[in-house]
Amino acid sequence: MNLVSGDMLWTNINKIPEKYSYLSEDINCDVLIVGAGITGAICSYYFTEAGIQTAIIDKNIIGYGSTSASTSILQYEIDTDLVGLKGTLGLDNAVECFKLCEKTVYEIEKVVDNLDCKCGFNLRDCFYYTDSEADVSRLKKEYEVRKNHGFNVEFIDSKKANNMFSFPVKAGIYSRSGAGDIDPYSFTHKLISHSIKKGLRVFENTEMISIRQLSEEVEVTTKNRFKINTKKVIFASGFEAKEMIDSKTAILTRTFTLVTKPIGNFDGWNNRCIIRNTNNPYTYLRTTSDDRIIIGGEDLELGGKNSKVSCLTNDDTVVIDKYGILNNRLLSMFPKIDNMEVEYRFSGLFGESGDGLPYIGEYEKYPNCYFCLGYGSNGILYAVIGAQLIRDLYLGNPSKLLDLFKIDR
Ligand SMILES: Cc1cc2nc3c(=O)[nH]c(=O)nc-3n(C[C@H](O)[C@H](O)[C@H](O)COP(=O)(O)OP(=O)(O)OC[C@H]3O[C@@H](n4cnc5c(N)ncnc54)[C@H](O)[C@@H]3O)c2cc1C
Repeated sequence: MNLVSGDMLWTNINKIPEKYSYLSEDINCDVLIVGAGITGAICSYYFTEAGIQTAIIDKNIIGYGSTSASTSILQYEIDTDLVGLKGTLGLDNAVECFKLCEKTVYEIEKVVDNLDCKCGFNLRDCFYYTDSEADVSRLKKEYEVRKNHGFNVEFIDSKKANNMFSFPVKAGIYSRSGAGDIDPYSFTHKLISHSIKKGLRVFENTEMISIRQLSEEVEVTTKNRFKINTKKVIFASGFEAKEMIDSKTAILTRTFTLVTKPIGNFDGWNNRCIIRNTNNPYTYLRTTSDDRIIIGGEDLELGGKNSKVSCLTNDDTVVIDKYGILNNRLLSMFPKIDNMEVEYRFSGLFGESGDGLPYIGEYEKYPNCYFCLGYGSNGILYAVIGAQLIRDLYLGNPSKLLDLFKIDR
């Protein structure tokens, strides 16, 4: 699958901090992580912090999969509204999922503090809004449920919004906690280098091609025919892991992103909050530590693995059109910001589960293996949640939350 395409932001503004060799002998470990994107890196952090002998492999180089295209918005809101999730899971479980995401934003703040790099992390407010009269009552209901369950939210009507934003808003929910943003590529590398100090072994350019169950262990074979014998495997192989699962997990789309050069002011953008609208597909915006704007959206459904949308490049007319739409939207939303010039244009495959929740835990087709698949726009928070749940499962303390995230739900 062509996971990403175009001129990427994170891998351009960061040099490759460290290179790692490929596997060149047979090894043993307690836990093998397959995939060294942000999910694998987060898993390596929690497992090595717990003193577990862990190795990680990637068929490519670290952080060059979907991680390199991630907008990396961290927010307690799940793509499925709390009211919608309540219909699927019941109120208590739905609120628990939102609270878990909120808590996990602050967990990431703690992890970043533990690394010797800020990784572009910032806590932010977030704003979920509509410019359509038809969505106002839905947003009001959503606001009330959130407010009643202790979220730090304010309902914004069009009059209030006039003083906060330079774009038209009919109504919105402004949240003052549970949101942030980060540089996913530098975070991934920092997590890996921190975990190495705790005993992690790392192998780039090392592809798993098969897996075999032995009586007590799992034997993983790499493309170069070396063996890794391990008690457990964690699949953190992103959207490609979808192929390993029989039931329908994620619907894949291609989402488009523009990033500006650093800009001088953020007039008409209250507090540089994270912004998302209620449209389908929705538009999302954030800023970066070096004062850029990222705008994304205009998602296209993928169709099959070899479909045209799956293989699009930056030169295709449909892609050029999508970038044009996003650019015009940005200019019209922020007319008071001078000299907005787009520097990076890229697109990435994006997988979303039906309920907006991740797939975390065991799957009977692969004994002694765990899956950590943060499908959905909260993929990074889900990776942190998944890594902790899987670590606890490995240590013999399974959480009841695993029921909500199980693969064959
Ligand atoms: C455009 C875009 C925007 C996003 N925006 C957000 C956002 O705002 N907020 C958020 O929280 N999340 C967001 N996400 C999702 C989040 O970034 C994903 O959860 C994340 O990118 C997936 O990370 P990953 O590490 O699981 O996968 P990847 O980064 O794809 O890493 C998987 C790795 O597995 C390796 N691999 C696969 N198969 C094998 C094998 N057989 N052997 C060895 N290695 C293998 C691959 O080479 C790859 O490096 C976004 C994603 C995209 C694409």
